[in-house]
Amino acid sequence: MQPTASHFVNGKYLEDTDGTPMPVIFPATGEEIAMVHAATPAVVEAALAAATAAQAEWAAMMGVERGRVLRRAADIMRERNQELSELETLDTGKPIQETLVADATSAADALEYFGGIAASLGGEHMQLGGDWAYTMRVPLGVCVGIGAWNYPTQIAAWKGAPALACGNTMIFKPSEQTPLCALKVAEILVEAGAPAGVYNVIQGAGEVGRALVEDPRTDKVSLTGSAATGKKVYASAAARMKHATMELGGKSPLVIFDDADLESAVSGAINANFYASGQVCSNGTRVFVQKGIKEDFLAQLKERTAKAVIGDPRDEATNFGPMVSEEQLAITCSYIEKGLEERARLVHGGKRIDRPGAYVEPTIFADVTDDMTIAREEIFGPVMSVLDFETEEEVVERANATDLGLSGAVFTADLTRAHRVVHAIDAGSLWINQYNLTPVEVPFGGMKGSGVGRENSRAAIEHYSQLKTVYVGMSPVEAAF
Ligand code: NDP
Repeated sequence: MQPTASHFVNGKYLEDTDGTPMPVIFPATGEEIAMVHAATPAVVEAALAAATAAQAEWAAMMGVERGRVLRRAADIMRERNQELSELETLDTGKPIQETLVADATSAADALEYFGGIAASLGGEHMQLGGDWAYTMRVPLGVCVGIGAWNYPTQIAAWKGAPALACGNTMIFKPSEQTPLCALKVAEILVEAGAPAGVYNVIQGAGEVGRALVEDPRTDKVSLTGSAATGKKVYASAAARMKHATMELGGKSPLVIFDDADLESAVSGAINANFYASGQVCSNGTRVFVQKGIKEDFLAQLKERTAKAVIGDPRDEATNFGPMVSEEQLAITCSYIEKGLEERARLVHGGKRIDRPGAYVEPTIFADVTDDMTIAREEIFGPVMSVLDFETEEEVVERANATDLGLSGAVFTADLTRAHRVVHAIDAGSLWINQYNLTPVEVPFGGMKGSGVGRENSRAAIEHYSQLKTVYVGMSPVEAAF
């Protein structure tokens, strides 16, 4: 099941043990499950050469042929969902209950969706009196994908599928925390018929990503990562006039009015904070609850959170697993300390769990105020902040009082208010009476400090292709002299 080498370059696995060793740790036990090596300059060069050499031929293929490869890859991913989900669970520590439905399946959806539209990508015709013009939709060239550790299979496919559909090639660098899953995406694409060099995966920390972005042979970078890394990578791309998509972090508001279906709102808040042990960029970590239902909401939330089945993520009964690493666990625990210091009211959890692995309890703070650190900074762990509010006007203003703008949601039975509030929130993805569903058919991405560009849907095509305009003169040219 495990990949057989560290990198996948030019259609096959590639090893170079001169690279810095990167042990892969199963977060639920702390055991080392694999060892990969960071890309050496020779591996980086091999990936750049392969992706550059393959691009023109891949772009020259009919869209329908490129699409067929992607759709075949989608079918293979679905057939192997069980083993790919097990690998995702080992790589990230997320419960198999989640990975069976949210990772390889989501990657397969992206491959199928972009495979389906590859044949229909094209330009327009404009009649200009006797003359006319047309546009062609052409690829960007070699794209660099850089992933975070929370959804390693999904991120590799969400970037790779639209890139390949448009005729680009890709070099993907996974997070050093979760290096295994993207290799399987590469392997499956080749099995599905992708020519050598079209989709490559190389390992390493930030400096490998940096080298790829700085190389003159690459044309675009799509990063999923923190806002701080996003600023660095975007600046590097801008200095070289490269295209960029930045999928960054959030501190998103989840607004619950007192007429909301309480049970559904509690479910929304649980999904928006504790799925994947809180390691989801679009999470609604500022839960604004209207004062009239605050205590009922907290009581139900506490009772249901106490029922979380915390355990080995390989067990299908487990619905709350470890964090990805000891390092992320320590960051989360330090935010919990801050919450206590700044006098938020601890309603549930708050402690590291006494068992092997990077486990912390699902944690709920109430009476959180806008100025507290836990209400301002992205924690990226299972820590929910519940804030009170009284009026719609007030909550909209407070929801927008952040530099970030990835997502948000409103729970209410009032249809007009629901739309009014989501229209007023400055964020890229909003839900009404729902949270964190991100099907491939709809655009996903952030506003403000949460990023630029969109993934998924036809909108992603704009970020992996460009237009070439051709003006066709049909009469002799007239000149002033
Ligand atoms: P990081 O920003 O630390 O890392 C993201 C990726 O960028 C990693 O592969 C990292 O390598 C690489 N990297 C780091 N520095 C550079 C550099 N200078 N040049 C090029 N690449 C670099 O994020 P995390 O991995 O910790 O992921 C968590 C963050 O990702 C959270 O903020 C979360 O909100 C965000 N995220 C956003 C999503 C979205 O779609 N909007 C979805 C999921 C997560 P390495 O770490 O291996 O050294």
